[in-house]
Amino acid sequence: IDEAEKFRIEYWELEEAKLRRMPEPKALATRVALVTGAGSGIGKAIAHRLVAEGACVVVADLDTANAQAVAEDLGGPDKAVAVTVDVTSEEQIAEAFKAAALAFGGVDLVVNNAGISISKPLLETTARDWDLQHDIMARGSFLVSREAARVMRAQGLGGDIVYIASKNAVFAGPNNIAYSATKADQAHQVRLLAAELGEHGIRVNGVNPDGVVRGSGIFAAGWGAQRAATYGIEEEKLGEFYAQRTILKREVLPEHVANAVFALTGGDLTHTTGLHIPVDAGVAAAFLR
Ligand code: NAD
Repeated sequence: IDEAEKFRIEYWELEEAKLRRMPEPKALATRVALVTGAGSGIGKAIAHRLVAEGACVVVADLDTANAQAVAEDLGGPDKAVAVTVDVTSEEQIAEAFKAAALAFGGVDLVVNNAGISISKPLLETTARDWDLQHDIMARGSFLVSREAARVMRAQGLGGDIVYIASKNAVFAGPNNIAYSATKADQAHQVRLLAAELGEHGIRVNGVNPDGVVRGSGIFAAGWGAQRAATYGIEEEKLGEFYAQRTILKREVLPEHVANAVFALTGGDLTHTTGLHIPVDAGVAAAFLR
């Protein structure tokens, strides 16, 4: 056995030892989550589900009043704290992670959920629309993930990063070039970061909700009305309309997206990374719109 072979064996043993030391995801009851955009809609439902499973949650949102209301609803400072953060600001993101460390001793689960939806036809989409959409959703989630990776690597305990992307990350629909492009960007961030952070025990996965989840601010801010007009039906009937177009004939609501976050991070999918789970009652599988 020559020197090179000896080195390879020693090196391999070292690598194996590193892998053995790498922690598997912990039960949610021992974990601290930071959820961006948790003041409303899907993020709020995710925060509720994570706390119900025993985690402590940092409710990170641009909207201070909403974030505070959610944190209070979740049981106050023992279970949840509110932090005002604009995900376009590196400084504010760093402060949010510091607040998590002060409140709960660290962070090992981060959900990139904050977002806006600029859904316009191509010819009406301005450069400013494009930049704003990308600043918040593509650049914002990159910045949050980078800080998450810094913190998780320093803690040395691995962790989870979950992106709330969209069916639109994969399937094209008309009139939302800016929004859908950022969702495709997020989907690739999932794969890239899964590849890069796996050796640190950090798993990166995504959830692709159907593009029409009611009970969310994005929906309330005109999206619902726009869709109702497109399909020529009343807005109140949109839920049932959307349910009927799915394979399962079920409407997707924020809690269903939260269920997928729990499935990915709650303990059993320990060997899954780089995956996107569709939560769309089958719409994408059947190429439905
Ligand atoms: P929402 O408007 O209810 O929630 C978004 C939250 O993000 C709000 O509380 C808002 O204050 C916050 N936010 C916006 N800009 C921010 C910023 N710069 N910094 C920090 N926080 C900011 O909308 P939602 O539907 O719950 O959306 C949550 C996520 O789910 C988004 O990423 C959205 O694209 C995605 N999604 C939504 C649907 C849907 O149909 N509602 C479908 C697929 C994917």
